[in-house]
Amino acid sequence: MRLWHFAKEILVRCPRCDGRALVAVHPDHRDGHTYAMGWLTAPHRLTCLGCAHIAEWVPRRWSSGAGDAYFTGGGARVVPAFGGPDDPYFGLPLWLRRPCCGRVLWAYNVPHLELLEAYVAASQRERPTPAGSQTLLERLPGWMKAAGNRAEVLAAIRALRDGA
Ligand SMILES: [Zn+2]
Repeated sequence: MRLWHFAKEILVRCPRCDGRALVAVHPDHRDGHTYAMGWLTAPHRLTCLGCAHIAEWVPRRWSSGAGDAYFTGGGARVVPAFGGPDDPYFGLPLWLRRPCCGRVLWAYNVPHLELLEAYVAASQRERPTPAGSQTLLERLPGWMKAAGNRAEVLAAIRALRDGA
């Protein structure tokens, strides 16, 4: 499992009301993707249930220095950059983010948060790590895996989940 598996539904802070909004593949572009890269680079839509704000994201044409490229029938597109505390499409702050251990703990959605919690709790109790999650978890920053940070990391994850 990789980080982008959690990118189908990304919770962000609404740019208009500061409430919880959802970024997902545009409803007209949900089907027909053979590869994950197809929906990752498909048009996306932000929807806020709180204030009904809607925003559209369309893939940009790739040019030199723009980042990773994905080649489609319509030409090369820029692949959104995954891996930080902002959403890869609109660049908005993730809804699930919180200062922790001098860093920022973040997750795209609740299942992502729950996987992080299961991993950190498992290492505490010496249980096996969740199946299929190794790739994502091996890439976690060292401070999240450090034994001395476990209590603070778990508390931050639970606080985020309670507010999700
Ligand atoms: Zn809103």
